[in-house]
Amino acid sequence: MSKPLRIAVIGAGVAGCLIVRGLQQLEVEIFCIEKGPEENLLAGTGLNVGPNALKILQQIDPELAAALQTAGTSLPWNSWKAGLTDGRVIFDLPLLQVADNPGIRIRWSQLYRQLRSHLTNVYYNTTVVEMGYTHSSAPLYLVVEDQVTGERHQFHEIDLILGCDGRYSQVRQTFIDTPQPAHLGTCIYRLLVPNTPQLIDDYQQWFHNGSRLLAFSIPGDEVYIAGSFPIAADLVIPEIAKSPDFLWQCYKPQQGYSQVCEFLVTAICENIEQIHWARIQEIPPAFGDARGHILCLGDSSHAMFPTLGQGATQAFEDGCFFVAQVRRYLAHQRNFSVPALVESFTATRRDRIKFVQQFSRDASDSLLAGSNPITELQAKTQNSFLEKLRRLYRDTPNCD
Ligand SMILES: Cc1cc2nc3c(=O)[nH]c(=O)nc-3n(C[C@H](O)[C@H](O)[C@H](O)COP(=O)(O)OP(=O)(O)OC[C@H]3O[C@@H](n4cnc5c(N)ncnc54)[C@H](O)[C@@H]3O)c2cc1C
Repeated sequence: MSKPLRIAVIGAGVAGCLIVRGLQQLEVEIFCIEKGPEENLLAGTGLNVGPNALKILQQIDPELAAALQTAGTSLPWNSWKAGLTDGRVIFDLPLLQVADNPGIRIRWSQLYRQLRSHLTNVYYNTTVVEMGYTHSSAPLYLVVEDQVTGERHQFHEIDLILGCDGRYSQVRQTFIDTPQPAHLGTCIYRLLVPNTPQLIDDYQQWFHNGSRLLAFSIPGDEVYIAGSFPIAADLVIPEIAKSPDFLWQCYKPQQGYSQVCEFLVTAICENIEQIHWARIQEIPPAFGDARGHILCLGDSSHAMFPTLGQGATQAFEDGCFFVAQVRRYLAHQRNFSVPALVESFTATRRDRIKFVQQFSRDASDSLLAGSNPITELQAKTQNSFLEKLRRLYRDTPNCD
């Protein structure tokens, strides 16, 4: 290839930022179109990023890995405790038993601040108006619009468009398909509340039948809470379910709440107005298009059930592995073919994503109506489940 590879990244989310960071210093021309502002709107909530994300990030971008693990930015995710809302603990797993390193607990706004610092060539507040193939050797074009000024701009001679634009990906819909979601039949909601009195520390879950509370603390002395409960086959979240009375009963064991669960349910009921109600869903994976100049990564490729906290975590794996692959190609094969790059990325990621999506699905048994949390949590202490966790947290794609 006589001129540098020209890559358009659509979406400065987790995968998109990692790719721009990892390639902007190399001999490729890379730019990113982001429809939102630089300060991210998801700033209100937190997330846990799995050990596998930190493991691969350490190999590809050790500076970012260190920044993300700095005190004040995140807290280490060292253990996973699960039990019942009456206080009984069924398992308490130190993550280092199944992982090479801890994960992190972090606020979304902090994660975005770190991911987006030092990025060049990102067009914020900009939407894609049109994109498609042309007949030239670098076959793609893109028309974008600045949402502030209304100005339109065209990009030509693009070799590769990366769909890093999340669950409702415009890239995937334009070039590949419109994925049909599969629903679990579970409502999920998330919120942040002050950690007073300091009852919450590392990652923990509490179940009552098919309903679940999940919480961990994040820097700034706040608690991230994710609650869930089963919904009926019509997948409608009934209005009645969005009330304090319903939620109070939903998690309530016969013996009464443990102190921690009473704190969590009280906090949920007091902050009900700030809750965004969602349904747990996944989409079938798709990576490249038939012509080989489009590649979807992260949620646009494989949004999954959030049960194992692998959504953003797999976006880290995708972004880091893509960077490793381009670096490898640039180092060894100066005249490389873009479809071959897309194909080899897909070949490596397909099986891993299939495994992670299936594992997330299987681990969701205790979020369903009619579940028996004691039996299901006990099964998660068995070797077959722990082996899968080892595979999840340790077998990140080879980036050498
Ligand atoms: C509240 C919440 C909590 C979560 N908690 C966890 C958790 O604890 N652990 C975990 O691993 N995962 C979690 N997830 C899942 C996780 O958010 C996603 O899996 C992850 O963000 C996917 O990363 P991504 O890079 O593919 O896409 P995203 O992070 O969704 O980024 C997509 C980006 O593309 C931009 N965009 C979209 N369309 C366009 C367009 N047409 N043009 C330009 N830009 C566009 C968006 O503005 C966004 O910035 C959570 C999700 C939510 C909503």
